[in-house]
Amino acid sequence: MTQDELLHLKLLAIELRKKLLTMIVSGGGGHTGGSLSCIDILVSLYFHALRIDPVDPESPGRDRFVMSKGHSAEALFCVLAEAGFFPEAELASYGSFGSRLYGHPTMGVPGVEMPTGALGHGLSIGVGMALAAQRDGVANRCFVLMGDGELAEGSVWEAAMAASHYRLDNLVGIVDNNGLQISGKTGDVMGLSPLAERWSAFGWAVEELDGNDIGGLASALDRLPARTGAPTLILAHTIKGKGVSFMENQASWHHGAPTAQQLGQALRELEAAAAGLRAAV
Ligand SMILES: [Mg+2]
Repeated sequence: MTQDELLHLKLLAIELRKKLLTMIVSGGGGHTGGSLSCIDILVSLYFHALRIDPVDPESPGRDRFVMSKGHSAEALFCVLAEAGFFPEAELASYGSFGSRLYGHPTMGVPGVEMPTGALGHGLSIGVGMALAAQRDGVANRCFVLMGDGELAEGSVWEAAMAASHYRLDNLVGIVDNNGLQISGKTGDVMGLSPLAERWSAFGWAVEELDGNDIGGLASALDRLPARTGAPTLILAHTIKGKGVSFMENQASWHHGAPTAQQLGQALRELEAAAAGLRAAV
C-alpha cells in the first residue's frame, strides 16, 4: 500500500467515526465504544482486503464477512454505505420506525451476509462458509470479526476446533481485543489469557497486532493465509472508544448516546486528528 492510500484510509476511518457517532445520536442509542474500537479493522477489510462488489453483492466468488460482534452494527452500516451497498443518506434513518438499519445487522441490509449479535455464533457460520468454499474448490475467503467478551461463549471454541480439523486456511478470525465488555474488564468477567497461545493450541496461525493501526492490519491481510493448511487468527489489540478522549477505555460507553455537547466535543477531537494527519504529509 502506498503512503497516499494509507493516509486516505486513515482519514476515512476518522470520517466514519464521525458518521457513526452522529448516527447513534440521531437514533437515540447504540454500541458506541465497540464500534469505535473496530472501525479501523472494518476499513482495512472493506477498502483494502475484501474481494467484493457492491454492484453484484451475491456474486458466488465473493469473499464473505461475518460481523459476529453484531452489536457494533453502527460501524458496519457506515462502512457498507461508504462501500456503496446502499445510499449513505439512509444512515439518517437508523433506529427510526420502518428503517432497515437498527441495533444489529439483518439480512434486509445489502451487504450483510448473516444476521448476528447473539454472540458466539459467527465463527461457526464462518467455518461453514469456508468449508463449503473448500469443498467447492472456489478461492473465496471468509472473515469473522469477534469481540473479546464474546470469546467466553463455548461455541467459539467448538468452531475453532472444527476450523483447524478441516484445515480451513481460507478462514480468518479477527478478535477486537479491547479488554472490555458490557459488564467491565474482560479479564474480570472471564479471563482469556494467554489468548494467543490458546488459539495456537487450537491449531490456528496467530498474527498479533495493533488493531487501530490500519497499515499493520493491511499488511497482515496481504499475507494471508498466515500458514498454509491452518486458519488464521488476527489478535487485534484495540482501544474501546478509540478516537474520542472521554470514551476511550470506558466500559460505560459500551452502549449509549452522547449528549449534543459530547457529540460536539467528539467531532472536534476527530476533526483535529484528521487535520494532524493532513499536516504531517
Ligand atoms: Mg470487548
